[in-house]
Amino acid sequence: MTDPVARSFAGKRLFVHEEQNLLFGYTSIDFGARDLKRFFPSLPLLFLKQVHSQRILSDGEWLAGSEADGLLLERPGAVAVIQTADCLPLFFWDKRRRRGGILHVGWRGLQQGIEERLVARLGKELGEFFFFLGPAIDGNCYEVGEELVALFAKKAYANRIFSQVRPGKYRLDIKSGLKQSLASAGIAAERIRDCKICTHCSTGLFPSYRRDGGTGRRIFNFLLLSDGGRTGA
Ligand SMILES: [Zn+2]
Repeated sequence: MTDPVARSFAGKRLFVHEEQNLLFGYTSIDFGARDLKRFFPSLPLLFLKQVHSQRILSDGEWLAGSEADGLLLERPGAVAVIQTADCLPLFFWDKRRRRGGILHVGWRGLQQGIEERLVARLGKELGEFFFFLGPAIDGNCYEVGEELVALFAKKAYANRIFSQVRPGKYRLDIKSGLKQSLASAGIAAERIRDCKICTHCSTGLFPSYRRDGGTGRRIFNFLLLSDGGRTGA
């Protein structure tokens, strides 16, 4: 498993991992939704109304405007899209490239256990899946209030994701919590890869809500099963 590599499309930058029957990646700060549509001119883009929930929809269940935070593709022919700007995109696919998708994991999604929902949904095939953690705010850059510590108190990994910076303020490592949760579900470490890109530290390359505020800029994270007849690139 390798990280997506930088490519240029219409003078703008995105990062793409491509292999037989699988394509996934993420866009840079200057890449808009229109650019994404031009990159995939002949395929439907499945956007969600993301609401920091634990809800995951399959491509067969998806409707325009659906409120959910995860997409599970069960056939080729559509592009799953998750928008982020510090929250974590979790990509996943099975070894035969028959199923795959993306979750939107912020602290609320992690606290609600969206990844546990995915694990349950993948069922017996879980051991055939690979996971990739895309660009997200790093544990060193994500400061939160004490109230979150209490909200995570029941998680088995709770005491390993927070570090206190000063009274009432903690750093939260979402990626670490997610990885520990996947590991405790029985997923082998070699099936989980982390691109280790911090959005907050990537000024000029990736949007960061914590760094830039509400500019409306987002990373478009995308995944497609099958590469046949795909892009205009
Ligand atoms: Zn950072």
